[in-house]
Amino acid sequence: MNKILLIISCCICLFSCQTADNQADNDKLLVVCTTGMIGDLVQNITGDLADVQSIMGPGVDPHLYKASHGDLTLLRSADIIFYNGLHLEGKMQEIFEQIAKTKPVFAITNALTIDELKAVDESDDTHDPHIWFDVSLWTKTTELVAGSLIELDSVNEEAYTSNKTNYNQQLSELHSWVTSQMELIPINKRILITSHDAFGYFGRAYDIKVKGLQGISTTTEFGLKDVGDMVDEIVENKIAAVFVESTISERSLNAVVEGCKAKRYSVAIGGTLYSDAMGEEGTDAGNYIGMVKHNVNTIVSALK
Ligand SMILES: [Zn+2]
Repeated sequence: MNKILLIISCCICLFSCQTADNQADNDKLLVVCTTGMIGDLVQNITGDLADVQSIMGPGVDPHLYKASHGDLTLLRSADIIFYNGLHLEGKMQEIFEQIAKTKPVFAITNALTIDELKAVDESDDTHDPHIWFDVSLWTKTTELVAGSLIELDSVNEEAYTSNKTNYNQQLSELHSWVTSQMELIPINKRILITSHDAFGYFGRAYDIKVKGLQGISTTTEFGLKDVGDMVDEIVENKIAAVFVESTISERSLNAVVEGCKAKRYSVAIGGTLYSDAMGEEGTDAGNYIGMVKHNVNTIVSALK
């Protein structure tokens, strides 16, 4: 009998020591996000109330990303998880479904209605996941994030709500700024050519035609025909510049630049855009607002 009691008390001690340990590390909520853009949005809403960690750092391509052992440990110890959804994190979907059985896990694109999403292909129900490039759509996800945090941590409802209102205000100003900047590009020069189709929502929101060499996901390779078609389009429309993406090798676009050269047309590399990941922490593009501004400044100065 004593033995049993001893075992039970050891178990209780182990359990409570572990819990105490977690709490000693950090009293705050642990929020785990996939992309840096989501992490930044969540951090703006939690302020100092949570420890917010993003799994995918600068230069990481979310379409191809596979969770490491460290990521799984982090996801398991999280209090709440936010990811993009719509297959952006295509290789992590099953993990989220498993973990959702034990704790709150949210795809932030669920904040949007089907009408707000861009269909990839009319024939099926897949939708473009790159919603962060339409700032007004991105703003709509703050409601879901704040609401889920309040459900988990209602004591701090007031702080989450007021942080959300402040951030929405900043995003609303950003949306107006992007709109006014893009209007500086003459209508006939509004064609944005990049490595993959990340900018569909950007094009729809800010009135610029967009074309990616690869499809919606970087998991599809581009072929010679894609390069040829793009070269024809650039030469025909006298497009001044094409843009490299921070998460994708330059190789694909170099093939386009070379193809144009062979047709005696010179197209410039207009600069690097942050498409599926933000810039390094501490740099101008190391947060969402800075990333959008960097992209818009790069696009406008190369195309206007
Ligand atoms: Zn992408």
